[in-house]
Amino acid sequence: AKEQGRNNFQFYSASYNLATFEHLSLEGRLRRALANDEFELHYQPQVRAETGEIVGLEALLRWNDPVEGLISPDQFIPIAENSGLIVPIGEWVLRQACRQISAWQAAGLSRVSVSVNVSAIQLQRQECATKVDQVLNETGLDPRYLELEITETALMKVKPEVIDQLGAMQRKGVIISLDDFGTGYSSLSLLQELPIGKLKIDKSFVRDMLTDPKDAAIVSAILLIAKSLGLKSAAEGVETLEQATWLAEKGCDKLQGYLISRPLPAAEMAKLLKSGV
Ligand code: C2E
Ligand code: CA
Ligand code: CA
Ligand code: CA
Repeated sequence: AKEQGRNNFQFYSASYNLATFEHLSLEGRLRRALANDEFELHYQPQVRAETGEIVGLEALLRWNDPVEGLISPDQFIPIAENSGLIVPIGEWVLRQACRQISAWQAAGLSRVSVSVNVSAIQLQRQECATKVDQVLNETGLDPRYLELEITETALMKVKPEVIDQLGAMQRKGVIISLDDFGTGYSSLSLLQELPIGKLKIDKSFVRDMLTDPKDAAIVSAILLIAKSLGLKSAAEGVETLEQATWLAEKGCDKLQGYLISRPLPAAEMAKLLKSGV
């Protein structure tokens, strides 16, 4: 029936086709989701490994579809990236996250930083750095409380101009963090050339590091590299006390994972911050 529909394309009026397409495609639904305010951010705490104190929050995008309910980013980020919709969606995320953190700071909640995931498509746009500046000005957030999480694969793809812009942001205090570190193909020399302040160890290594000596070796090596290059380190996907202890002993600066907390809606995160953990 789908094939037939495609062949019969020219028989329908243009507006009918557009409506049908929009109704069926995920891209159309994403476009509508942005217009209808169906996105929300959940926040997951990052704690200092030594003390357990919350020092940062990662903003994680959720789509609250009126029909299907909460949809996870893995299901729609790739479509948003392919369609270019990640640019306005990413801008929404950045603004919402900065606005929220700024509001919490103004309300006297503990001062935490916010980490925002930035996709390669967003970075490739010339205006990316300008957008970040604009949002920081608009929300009054001190740049030192903003962290941009960029995957190593994304960072390898960007133009030299963008690298310069990232450098400029870093000089203002924004922290550039290499996300999913160890899963991509970056060469170690890249770490030295690119403006990076932090390595974030991917959860796939953390998951198996206490049972698989190879994963343990990779995690130890990443932490050593971070230390030798003067970079901060964080581990995601920390689910057990054993993992947390091991990572803290190896000198990992920050920990994030279900052991500490799942990502929470803003209202619940505010309560957690108020309780002063
Ligand atoms: P990520 O940046 O690597 O984020 C970490 C993911 O691990 C999150 O999944 C988080 O909920 C999950 N996680 C946290 N703690 C644990 C744990 O202890 N165990 C396990 N198994 N998982 C844990 P989530 O929220 O489903 O996000 C998936 C991915 O979607 C993110 O991976 C990120 O790449 C992407 N994403 C999320 N929000 C955004 C966004 O605003 N913009 C862009 N471009 N990508 C986003
Ligand atoms: Ca991330
Ligand atoms: Ca990851
Ligand atoms: Ca393994």
